[in-house]
Amino acid sequence: MKYTFLPSTSCNMCGSDDHRVIGKRLNQSQGYNPHKKIGITTTVLKCKNCGLKFASPIPIPESLNDHYDMSTQKYFDKTFQKFDPNTFKSELSYFKSIYKGTTSIKALDIGAGLGNIMKAMEAEGLEAYGLEPSKSFYNFAVNTMGISSERLWNQTTEEMDFEKESFDLIVLSAVFEHLYDPNKALKKALSWLKKGGLIYIGVPSAHSLNQELINLMYKIRGLDYVSNISPMHPPFHIYEFTEKSFQKNSLLNKYTIEKTERVTYQTYLPKILNSIIFPFIKITKTDMNIMVWLRKN
Ligand SMILES: [Zn+2]
Repeated sequence: MKYTFLPSTSCNMCGSDDHRVIGKRLNQSQGYNPHKKIGITTTVLKCKNCGLKFASPIPIPESLNDHYDMSTQKYFDKTFQKFDPNTFKSELSYFKSIYKGTTSIKALDIGAGLGNIMKAMEAEGLEAYGLEPSKSFYNFAVNTMGISSERLWNQTTEEMDFEKESFDLIVLSAVFEHLYDPNKALKKALSWLKKGGLIYIGVPSAHSLNQELINLMYKIRGLDYVSNISPMHPPFHIYEFTEKSFQKNSLLNKYTIEKTERVTYQTYLPKILNSIIFPFIKITKTDMNIMVWLRKN
């Protein structure tokens, strides 16, 4: 795989140049002995203003398909390969409770993946559209999930353009962290959104117990590696976010944060410890994911 390394010293979300190096990240799973593995590394920085964690330089593959044109079975857990009627249900009911728009609601899923959220939107009576840059994920969504090819485009946010103020709801679920310039994509999404419309973003947290435990283990052993982000191997995360990243970004892009929520599905630790670990995660605010609802002013 060929990469171009793009320098990145200012924070993509808040614009600050004030950051510190937190360690190195290898181009493969690191395991217990990353210093004994052969490969290339990038530096991981943490923004001192908002806590965003990001790669510097950012490794950009020659083609996005180098990363994402892999078999759907390899990238997605098998639970995603069959539509579950509970998918995105609580999120859509929250949206309906706070959105006082027209009766016909147009929604866009950016990074539609296998089409699960588009199906959930359709089941709730929304007019669902989507963008999916990976050819193999797009084919699965159209051929296996039955998503209409007239409503799903095999394109990136950068390539696509909709008319201004077309949508009531835009979703970026497990997508924002994969984008090389999330701030630019958010600006574009906001331009496609109606005034008062909502954007849902689900991202990995920059401060999660899973990562903190592994980083602590590396630190104790005197290694300058960290487990944050994965810009050169699956799941190809370029960024990890904090609530503050969105608070600072809301001032630049002029939106209101309606709600943020922290979520943890499962840690690396044995399930038997969940009754102790989950309350600990809540107290220390070290959940794996952050969900944010934004409203266009
Ligand atoms: Zn920042």
